[in-house]
Amino acid sequence: MLSVALAASLICTQALAATYIQAGKLIPANSDKVMSEVTVVVDGNKIREIHQGYITGGEQDELVDLKTHTLMPGLMDMHTHVTSQHNGPSSYMERFTLNEADYAIKGVQYAKRTLLAGFTTIRNLGDGYNESVALRNAINKGVVEGPRIFTAAKSIATTGGHADPTNGTAKKIQGDPGATDGVINGVAEARKAVRQRYKDGADLIKITATGGVLSVAKSGQNPQFMDDELKAIVDTAKDYGMTIAVHAHGKEGMERAIKAGVTSIEHGTYMDKQTFKLMKKHQTYYVPTVMAGNWVAEKAKIDGFFPELVRPKAATIGPLILQTLANAHKAGVKIAFGTDSGVSAHGDNGLEFVLMVEAGMKPIEAIRAATYHGAILIDQLDSLGTIEDGKLADLVAVSGDPLDDIKRMQQISFVMKNGQIYKTPEA
Ligand SMILES: [Zn+2]
Repeated sequence: MLSVALAASLICTQALAATYIQAGKLIPANSDKVMSEVTVVVDGNKIREIHQGYITGGEQDELVDLKTHTLMPGLMDMHTHVTSQHNGPSSYMERFTLNEADYAIKGVQYAKRTLLAGFTTIRNLGDGYNESVALRNAINKGVVEGPRIFTAAKSIATTGGHADPTNGTAKKIQGDPGATDGVINGVAEARKAVRQRYKDGADLIKITATGGVLSVAKSGQNPQFMDDELKAIVDTAKDYGMTIAVHAHGKEGMERAIKAGVTSIEHGTYMDKQTFKLMKKHQTYYVPTVMAGNWVAEKAKIDGFFPELVRPKAATIGPLILQTLANAHKAGVKIAFGTDSGVSAHGDNGLEFVLMVEAGMKPIEAIRAATYHGAILIDQLDSLGTIEDGKLADLVAVSGDPLDDIKRMQQISFVMKNGQIYKTPEA
């Protein structure tokens, strides 16, 4: 039975005024079409109707004038690390100097920046201490402001692999991290690591199927999981209703993961024609993160920015991702938008649109990768990802037309999440 106070607040919510958003252009994102001069009526946290032409509600209703703007669904970044941000050489010291609470508090700040950049939904693909689970819960409860978070919590690696948290540390402080810490060897530990993440409150699973750039380890692309370990991860994740995002640069490791039935390949640097064929067969999504590639390539030019083992990997792998995206797009692989923000700064996420267009995607394709395809990837298309009657009111706008100038996606001027306005254009 509802308490009196809760019942009263429900009545109050129903009586709230509607919001009438008059938009010069509208990208619903369920197709390539663009509409002109429409009014989107938002009631509570949902889109009530899309009306052709400008209309206003009653006196009690709110009117938002976006007649010189383009309105589109809230943006979705499918690859972030919202509780941390690389800040040069000292980043590698932070694991010895910071605690869980420090990351949690950083996350509050980064989540808000992400939301104000127009990203109303993110996947968080790896944290240190499950602090992104607490952040997600606090945002959902309205305690702090940020995007809807679908988090993998702590990534799963193998010993010495890309997400082994003790890589590069002195033997005497390494200990022997196991499944709970996200380091597995063999089938039983693979299963345990997935089940532990379920218990920890993760929404999905992230594994590091090959070496990576920023870890203090020699190879940035060797395969790091065996077929039986991958199968154990995928089978267990499916039992618990979780999808699997896979960090991968090298071809062999990523192809093993695709064949095992994972959901998305992140970065994907050395994928080729054979890999594309395999991805199309298995309906695997590609999340390119070109921004992260460009960022590490740029920083590799600075002496002392990265540890010695990291620098050559950053210089070699980083610059290749843009071309990989160009090839994957031409081959017809399904692409979802992702930035790996936390490598580059949170709030800069919109730059990825510019790079996607540079790689040959049409502006509308890049926008749909960050809306419609994101929603499919996290299995939320029934409530998010397009502007349609009855969907959740996650809406953003830019001044002018982003299809004429994709750089406008870096200047989001209106943000609504769940029917609540967080940003309006400056008058
Ligand atoms: Zn990442």
